[in-house]
Amino acid sequence: TKYVYFFGGKTAEGNGQMRDLLGGKGANLAEMCLIGIPVPPGFTITTEVCAAYYEHGKKIPEEVLPQIDEALKRVEALVGKKFGDSADPLLVSVRSGAALSMPGMMNTILNLGLTDASVEGLARKTNNPRFAYDSYRRLIDMFGSTAMGVDHDHFEHELQQMKEAKGVKLDTDLNAEDLKELVRRYKAVYRKHVGDDFPQDPRKQLMLAIQAVFNSWMGKKAVEYRRIERITGLKGTAVNVQAMVFGNMGNTSGTGVAFTRDPNTGENVFYGDYLINAQGEDVVAGIRTPEPISRLKEVMPQVYEQLCDIRQKLEQHYKDMQDIEFTVQEGVLYMLQTRAGKRTGTAAVRIAVDMVREGLIDERTAVLRVNPESLNHLLLPQLDPKANIKPVAQGIAASPGAASGIVLLSADAVVEHHEKHPQDPIILVRKETSPEDVAGMHLAVGILTSTGGKSSHAAVVARGWGKPCVVGCEAVKISEEAGTITIAGHTVKAGEYITINGTTGDVMIGKVPTVLPKITGDFATLMEWADKYRKLRVRTNADSPADAAKAREFGAEGIGLCRTEHMFFGEGRILAMREMILASDEAGRRAALAKIEPLQREDFIGIFEAMDGYPVTIRLLDPPLHEFLPHDHAAQEELAQSLGVPVAKIKERVDELHEFNPMMGFRGCRLPIVYPEIAEMQVRAIIEAAIEVHRRGKKVLPEIMVPLVGTIEELRFIKQRIVAVAEECMAKAGVRIEYQIGTMIEVPRAALTADQIAEDAEFFSFGTNDLTQMTFGFSRDDIKSFMPTYLREKILPVDPFQSIDVKGVGQLIEIGVRKGRESRQSKYGQHLKVGICGEHGGDPDSIRFCHQVGMDYVSCSPFRVPIARLAAAQAAL
Ligand code: PEP
Ligand code: MG
Repeated sequence: TKYVYFFGGKTAEGNGQMRDLLGGKGANLAEMCLIGIPVPPGFTITTEVCAAYYEHGKKIPEEVLPQIDEALKRVEALVGKKFGDSADPLLVSVRSGAALSMPGMMNTILNLGLTDASVEGLARKTNNPRFAYDSYRRLIDMFGSTAMGVDHDHFEHELQQMKEAKGVKLDTDLNAEDLKELVRRYKAVYRKHVGDDFPQDPRKQLMLAIQAVFNSWMGKKAVEYRRIERITGLKGTAVNVQAMVFGNMGNTSGTGVAFTRDPNTGENVFYGDYLINAQGEDVVAGIRTPEPISRLKEVMPQVYEQLCDIRQKLEQHYKDMQDIEFTVQEGVLYMLQTRAGKRTGTAAVRIAVDMVREGLIDERTAVLRVNPESLNHLLLPQLDPKANIKPVAQGIAASPGAASGIVLLSADAVVEHHEKHPQDPIILVRKETSPEDVAGMHLAVGILTSTGGKSSHAAVVARGWGKPCVVGCEAVKISEEAGTITIAGHTVKAGEYITINGTTGDVMIGKVPTVLPKITGDFATLMEWADKYRKLRVRTNADSPADAAKAREFGAEGIGLCRTEHMFFGEGRILAMREMILASDEAGRRAALAKIEPLQREDFIGIFEAMDGYPVTIRLLDPPLHEFLPHDHAAQEELAQSLGVPVAKIKERVDELHEFNPMMGFRGCRLPIVYPEIAEMQVRAIIEAAIEVHRRGKKVLPEIMVPLVGTIEELRFIKQRIVAVAEECMAKAGVRIEYQIGTMIEVPRAALTADQIAEDAEFFSFGTNDLTQMTFGFSRDDIKSFMPTYLREKILPVDPFQSIDVKGVGQLIEIGVRKGRESRQSKYGQHLKVGICGEHGGDPDSIRFCHQVGMDYVSCSPFRVPIARLAAAQAAL
């Protein structure tokens, strides 16, 4: 078997298609060689070797070794130097690279092959001892921390000490002698923490480094990243061993990272940073603040021009925005990496639409190119332009959107705080972030760092997740000991609010109100394309005219679920509702319901108006009644006073309504079966509202939905009353309204007996929240205690309340759709309309499933409507 793939010169054994085997980095290095882009020669050890490494108890299989030697010889021949030669050594970098990019997750070692002997050779050969010792101390640091697990801070500490002792600010101000001394100290650090000397055999260095890359595949950081990003099914990481080129050979050398377009806005401009006289890690690590790429035009005009050509060539070739790494060694440019660049949702949309205009891709590709979840980014809150905005500092706008949140100073603090107060928005404030921080970064609503550039870890990760982020805000001084930050003279304690605007880089003290954006421009164009291809309709879950109107703006084609219970909580309503619940007989209940009825009718009028002819599914009251009652003494006292009844009576009724398992108790269709007057009131309000809107000259399509049905008899019982009331209202008004009666399918028995249920239902709406709850037997409100463990231990691949469990719940849905449709068709020759209104209706994977089982529509919260439109299009393409 071939385990090692050489690349270099203008040839390569692999190519860009071989991501699974060579990893993204390896495949693209090969591809770049093939299209004539300058790449230092090297070779890729395949992901299969990583898998074999773990199968063999963390040993590299014997048969791989001669292939490594062989490939190394080819690199030596091309470069004209020998690995391990003490007079003129070939040095290599060792990098990881899995099939999917995992920024910052895997470790890199540079300058490998240097030893006490060859560092002298390098110094003589290059006539640059400063460079040679700088390279060597970096190797000891990277090798020590990456391959041998020595804490990088130990090395960093020595570096700081040295800089202090010499009274210099920048690493580059240390001279050759300083660095030589630093090497001595680094070696001592290494010896102290590893218990052995830094290896003087380059081949041993190489093998340990390769193993380190394989080990990092199962490292905590990488495992955590794959968990968050739901990455499964990869063989492992490949290892790329590549001849070193040096960005730290003086002022005609440098290194940089760039994007072929702006990854924040998508604008077609060259975007990135570089550092003169530095090695790659310096740019990404956020230690020195780099220069914008446009400055390179003045500093190294030829290199800049060549880079611009390569930028064009890469985009033409890959037909996508690229994220590139390059190094300039004494004026000669080398590309070290290219990959599809991570981008914000805003950028993704703009790039996709621009590339169609530029003729690089077609509309379908554009629709498929944008991750539906990333649209969140375009729907991110912006600072309210009417608000009094007083920025106290400005950093680099690294990832757009505005966020207010409480300041916390470490990722661990974020994780801890979030566990206790999941509702609190948090802004993580740090000097810089590193891969260790990803869990906390993921939970924060925004990230602010005092150092780093647009390509720093914080910026890259935040952009990937569509979180507002400001970096390099030097006015922010952090004192972890004191638990405070100061921003341009203002002190903010951990736990106090600040606001950041990742679109402009502004930082504000306190909370600033935010507003929601509209769908216009490129976003609207992409949505139009998506609408052309999708088969599913997209509705929204809304129970107020304002939400309904917002959803319409986002393109909702109706309401899939109006939860009427929310209408009972409003002012002037909850009291009547409680009166109804507490009433001792039907007459008392009717009297209380009569107070609610006109309010509810007004609500429905508002919603029908907002939906302007689109169908509106209104669900009859669903939750257990006790949810409407006050449970603490003070509130019960108050209620007793308002209703003029003794508090004891209220207590008694609350106790009576207490249930051991309320979600399976007196709720859903069971309520109107016991108290038909509740449903009667609601139906009157719905039909009368429909008549009113009809009279105003608008089209109305009410769909009355019965929740929690498990048997056809339940549905029949209620349907009779619905029909009777509706007919009465229409007769009285002398107006006929078209309306439908349907049911939710959210009890497993309903799915299994869908053929019977469809005889009396004109539509089905899958309530996958309850259906998931009852299929798994997981209380939807109590998964906190075990779901994290289930996910970590891979007992479940994803939280089934977020993404449909296709194997189990999905089967019930599939049965329900099939049996329901067949029955309705054979009995009445009618198409049974089927949709979904559980939370899953806004989840792209679940939407794909809904498309596959042939639903007519999905319904989701207003904010997910654009996401659902795009996901539905992707499912259809
Ligand atoms: C459901 O169960 O999926 C549903 C939409 O209803 P609710 O969440 O209101 O129970
Ligand atoms: Mg439900």
